Amino acid sequence: MKFDELPLIAPILRALQDKKYTEPTAIQEKAIPLILEQNDVLGSAQTGTGKTAAFAIPIIQRIHKMESGGGKPQLLSLIVTPTRELAIQIDDNIRLYSKYTNLKHAVIFGGVKQGQQVDKLKRGVHLLVATPGRLLDLIDQGYIRLSDVKIFVLDEADRMLDMGFVNDVKKLLKLLPSQRQSLFFSATMPKSILSLANEILTNPKKIEVNPVSSTAETIQQFLFYTNRTDKKKLLLHILTDQKIDQVLVFSRTKHGADRIARDLHKNRISTAA
Ligand code: AMP
Repeated sequence: MKFDELPLIAPILRALQDKKYTEPTAIQEKAIPLILEQNDVLGSAQTGTGKTAAFAIPIIQRIHKMESGGGKPQLLSLIVTPTRELAIQIDDNIRLYSKYTNLKHAVIFGGVKQGQQVDKLKRGVHLLVATPGRLLDLIDQGYIRLSDVKIFVLDEADRMLDMGFVNDVKKLLKLLPSQRQSLFFSATMPKSILSLANEILTNPKKIEVNPVSSTAETIQQFLFYTNRTDKKKLLLHILTDQKIDQVLVFSRTKHGADRIARDLHKNRISTAA
């Protein structure tokens, strides 16, 4: 499939051409039409799948169509992500895909002075990318109102919970209008994540690309059946391959790791445990 077979507007197709992106990735092909049709989406996808464009592109298009063009921009879409790096990456993507539209966007995150971020917010934005702490802080200070948000994205939800942002997310949910479109992305979908997703989404369409915890395509895996006594010899045999330069060996226990390191050392393989 080609991008121009998707129901995308000319300014976005032109920006994609500039990037020399011709074909949507699997998640983009599935998510873009669903999001344009205003569905809630539960996406199971890792970074590297083209996930960012999968939600950024249809959001830019929806805002482009909602926007009247007059007056100060209203905050129509909020994207929340756990880290500063991810927030910047998403905002960079949005800049690229929206360059031929009038979309105003900003990114906010903690760990830096708030002045420049506040200046941008004061001028008005349609779309805000944010990490949870700074977002709540600037809401408390009255610089951000979520009452006009029509599209809410929670990105990397599993990392968000791992980093202890669950209460921040729950606070945010109380501030968002209940009538909204919500998109929820996570690399993994354990029960805790699914129950959070249930609180956020209404009749979501489910999208899954790459089975959860799949191995990178560049990695080959082998399984050897052996026993305790032969295990050491087998490891040494594998390590005699000259092509092998550096090796990471996992062991169940600390003592096991020490024993493996000692044995390898005896066989003149330089090892640390
Ligand atoms: P993401 O999973 O969003 O972090 O994207 C992974 C990388 O793929 C980023 O560098 C994107 O710029 C790139 N990318 C996204 N969509 C496409 C596409 N349709 N064709 C080629 N590259 C893409």
